[in-house]
Amino acid sequence: MNNIIWFRNDLRLEHNLALSEAMLSSDSLEAVYIFPEKNKFFVGEAAQWYLHQSLMHLEGRLLKLGITLNVFIGNAADIFSKYIEKNGKKTTIFCNKSFNPIQLKIDQDVTVTLKQTKNLRYVGMDTVFDPNVIKTKANGIYKIFTPFSNTFSSLIFKKNFNFGSLNKTKKFTPVEKFTEISDLKLITNKSWSKKFTNFWKPGELNAINLMHAFLYKKIDLYSDNRDNILEQYTSKLSVSINFGEISIEYLFSEILKSFNDAAYKCDTNRHDFYRQLIWREFAKYSMFYNQESHLKSIYDYCDSEILWSGDDILFELWKQSKTGVNIVDASMKQLWNEGWMPNRARMISASFLTKNLGIHWNKGFKWFWDTLVDADLASNAMGWQWVSGTAPYSAQFSRIFNPHLQEKKFDPQNIYINKYLNQTNTIKPIVSVSSSAKEAKIRYQRIKLLQES
Ligand SMILES: Cc1cc2nc3c(=O)[nH]c(=O)nc-3n(C[C@H](O)[C@H](O)[C@H](O)COP(=O)(O)OP(=O)(O)OC[C@H]3O[C@@H](n4cnc5c(N)ncnc54)[C@H](O)[C@@H]3O)c2cc1C
Repeated sequence: MNNIIWFRNDLRLEHNLALSEAMLSSDSLEAVYIFPEKNKFFVGEAAQWYLHQSLMHLEGRLLKLGITLNVFIGNAADIFSKYIEKNGKKTTIFCNKSFNPIQLKIDQDVTVTLKQTKNLRYVGMDTVFDPNVIKTKANGIYKIFTPFSNTFSSLIFKKNFNFGSLNKTKKFTPVEKFTEISDLKLITNKSWSKKFTNFWKPGELNAINLMHAFLYKKIDLYSDNRDNILEQYTSKLSVSINFGEISIEYLFSEILKSFNDAAYKCDTNRHDFYRQLIWREFAKYSMFYNQESHLKSIYDYCDSEILWSGDDILFELWKQSKTGVNIVDASMKQLWNEGWMPNRARMISASFLTKNLGIHWNKGFKWFWDTLVDADLASNAMGWQWVSGTAPYSAQFSRIFNPHLQEKKFDPQNIYINKYLNQTNTIKPIVSVSSSAKEAKIRYQRIKLLQES
């Protein structure tokens, strides 16, 4: 049988259920990656740099199995229709299901176009559980984190993990390679992203090394230091997880294994890391039930009832690290240089934009989307809506990060600031932190009342 393995956000060979199933069921197998022609929320600009490198890595790994990777820009339904014309009606397209709303829409088009032939076959997933499985006792949807997390844990502790088995001895005959990864034009005209090579090592094998280095060593320092912005104590696995260079299920299973080890039973480091991974699951879950949460507030009245500022100059200054508030500017500089910043820095800069400058979270979301190498639609939307208090999972109306206090607490000796700002800011803060915080409270007061009513 001439079949296809359709890679999406699962750019790996190991623990890849769709790939192992496709290899088992096929006489001839070709790999395909499709980048939609017009969809700015498929993969952000900085993440495209990573995607290019990760696809190159994957292509090399697949070749060892005799599997050719062809890449396309365009409409998946049209591309697969042509494949089926060429390969025959019985062609199966194997893939792992992604709950990303953009991918779900693409899949829906493919399913509708190929409805008679039913060629699309889901095998694994990009989350541990299908969002349809996690429901409240009344069969409702979880809107806040802790109860979701409790149910998630009760299910995962009972789960039988199945990662498939990759038959590395099976060799296919490579098919014609008529495209190059460079055809996707993911890195052309983006000289600013060249510097990312200093900070990132894309590809499955590098991701596995990073995961092992973290799980078997660094994790022991996680709880006490995960908010440390000066040094890297967190896993920095977000981008590898987002592109599926490592399987999220496998990562969870490794952590769960350690819970069974008496030495780690009460280990807060592993529990805290496990909890962060559940936040990712919650982000995917929440977006599945709020498919436009990257475009508008989940509490949609927040978009119209909060008096958001339309000041483009303030927004530009925030983007360009010119707010005059050191910790915010240093964070934004790190983002621009490295395509990444620690969670604490994301919260501080997002809070400053939405609360102190009063600018709608969606503008910041879009900037992060295009500048974060680990940009993920669900986690980014949740991060922004959590900070700006526009979704049920955030209780942030009254919480406004004071960047000066954050600086004192997390960078008392200005190490972070000096690292990212060539010289300490000589710019006067573009707003007064204290009076803008008071104004934010007044703006949000209306919303709080609406929510309570
Ligand atoms: C405004 C804002 C925007 C964000 N945008 C993104 C984004 O685009 N992509 C993204 O992957 N994360 C995003 N996050 C979440 C979080 O900041 C990053 O996942 C984390 O900093 C990545 O670093 P790490 O891998 O070292 O995390 P670790 O602390 O090592 O955590 C392990 C993993 O858990 C998951 N995780 C941790 N914290 C969160 C969280 N708060 N929400 C969801 N998943 C989490 C990630 O997959 C992460 O790799 C955002 C947070 C905020 C406040």
